[in-house]
This record gives sequence, C-alpha cells and structure tokens, in this order.
Amino acid sequence: MIASDFKRVRCLKKRLRPINEKDETTMIETVGIIGAGTMGNGIAQVSAAAGLKVVMVDISDAAVSRGVATVAGSLDRLVKKEKMTAADSDATLKRITGTTDRAKLADCDLVIEAATENEELKVKILKDLCATLSPRTLVATNTSSISITKLAAATDRPDRFIGMHFFNPVPVMALLELIRGLQTSDDTHAKALDFAKRVGKVAITAKNSPGFAVNRILCPMINEAIFALQEGIASAEEIDAGMKLGCNHPIGPLALADLVGLDTMLSVMEVFYKGFNDPKYRPAPLLKEMVDAGHLGRKTGQGFYIYSK
Ligand code: NAD
Repeated sequence: MIASDFKRVRCLKKRLRPINEKDETTMIETVGIIGAGTMGNGIAQVSAAAGLKVVMVDISDAAVSRGVATVAGSLDRLVKKEKMTAADSDATLKRITGTTDRAKLADCDLVIEAATENEELKVKILKDLCATLSPRTLVATNTSSISITKLAAATDRPDRFIGMHFFNPVPVMALLELIRGLQTSDDTHAKALDFAKRVGKVAITAKNSPGFAVNRILCPMINEAIFALQEGIASAEEIDAGMKLGCNHPIGPLALADLVGLDTMLSVMEVFYKGFNDPKYRPAPLLKEMVDAGHLGRKTGQGFYIYSK
C-alpha cells in the first residue's frame, strides 16, 4: 500500500466508527448492579434516569431497601429543585428493581459490580455471577483500585470485562473512568464508551495500574492530609479550609474521605502500598485507627466530622 492508500483506509475507518457506535447504543438496555450502597444506588439512579431498566442486587432486604430509598430521596430533591419533573422521577424509580436474588441479573446486557472494596469478595462475586449470566452479558467493576486484569481473569469472559469507575456522588460527578484490562476487547471498550454517553458521563480511558489515573493522584493526597492531621499540623477544619481556599478544591480532603468512606480509603491505600511496593503509599496510622473504631465517615455518622441524620 502506498501512503495515500493508508490515508484512505484511515479516513474510511473514521467514517465507519459512528455507524458502529450507533449499533452499540442499542445494545445496552438493561443494567444489573451488584451492591446497593453509596455507589451502587447512584449508578442505578443515573442508569434509570437515562431510560435503562435496572436490577440492583444486595445481600439483605435492608441493604436493598436502603439503596432504593436513597435513590427515591435523591430524585425527590431533583424534583424540589425543579431539575426533574415528578412524572420523570416516578418513571425513573419504576425502572429500578431492588432484589436479593442474583438470578434476576441473568438477562442483563451489562452487569456492574459495585460491592464492598475487597479483592477476595469481588473475585467470588464475579465467579458466582458468571455461572448464572447469559454469555452475551458484558461485565464491569466499579472498583477504585483493584487490578482489572486480575478481576477479568476471575470471569469466564475476560475480553468482555472492563473497569467502569464512577465518582461519588454518581448523579453529580461528570466523569466515568474506563479501565481496560489486558484482556479487554476493543468492542467492549466501545460499548463502555457508548454506555458512558448514554448515562450522561464524560469518559476518560486509563491503563490498568493501581488506582488507575484519578485515584492514583487523589488518594495519596487524602492520605497525606490524614498524616498532617495526625501530626497535629492543623485541625481537620483548617486542613480542609486550606485546600478549599488555597487550592480551589470544592471539598476538603478530610471531608472527601468521609464522603468516600474511610474503609474504602484504607483498602485503596493498601492496594497501592502492595501494588507498587513503595512505602510512600503506606496508609496513615490514623486512617487505620478510625476504621478499627468503626468511624467510616458519612455512612456511619462519624468520620473526621460528625454527621447527624
Ligand atoms: P458501600 O459500603 O457503600 O456499599 C457496598 C455494598 O455492597 C453494601 O451495600 C454491601 O451490602 C454490598 N455487598 C457486599 N457484598 C455483596 C455481595 N456479595 N452481593 C451483593 N452486594 C454485596 O461501598 P461503596 O462506597 O458503594 O463502594 C462500592 C465499590 O465502589 C467499591 O469497589 C469502591 O471501591 C467503589 N467506589 C467507591 C467510591 C466512593 O466514593 N465510595 C468511589 C468510586 C468507586
């Protein structure tokens, strides 16, 4: 082939891409979500608001009800702020089925695992899940830090597995970070890009590496803020005010840690510490102690700050 032929092939590929993308749009209509916690119910909300049917699974009726109630509360607030009509809110909520029965995920087009950040648990969930899923179903994980390549290897469809890292709170944050494992196919990546668009998110794509792109930068910063607090450099309020006013961050690192969940923060730092084998990533002892005390942030009512219902 001569240079002009290469050019023509490249142009043709570019012209063909939107047609392929359009085909993919019709592919994902039903989304399964494993975990109805902070992230799971947020992903359920944005998916249902985009017109997709959602099946949200958790391990207990109480966890499922909490997840559905959180979505209902969040939709109510949007109606009150006149960002959504009451009719759209009702229709969105009706598209979400909450259940403890994982078999109800069998026919979903996409299942997103958003359970507790624990590698052993996620491997077990994915293995059990794949045994009951339709072979055509795409599987994704919302892990903050665990290797996508490793989790993909626990499934029976590593080429159709991808990291879909949403940000908290999901209905508010614009980003969806996609992470390709070594085995992720181009088709799966294209479908994930399409899904991001469908649920109104802007996607970036990162390589598989501990923390991917965003948390690789964000979590060590939060961990450092906890070290600063522990060393008495400044109070929690002063550290947060400093980062908000001095660095223009919309929320201080300690308040953000409370929002993320201190157990999740600790798991992420442990993955970095082990993954890079570098002491600069060691979790702050105060973070460990807070988790030992059960002070996990907003979800338990106490973290670096106290939260009343
Ligand atoms: P969470 O603790 O709020 O919720 C986790 C939910 O998973 C709980 O309701 C729990 O009951 C459920 N669960 C546990 N085992 C299960 C199982 N076998 N089957 C079904 N459900 C099960 O945690 P979260 O903050 O929502 O985090 C979920 C995932 O999202 C984690 O991988 C986390 O790293 C990731 N993530 C969290 C944030 C954040 O800011 N919290 C941001 C991005 C990604």
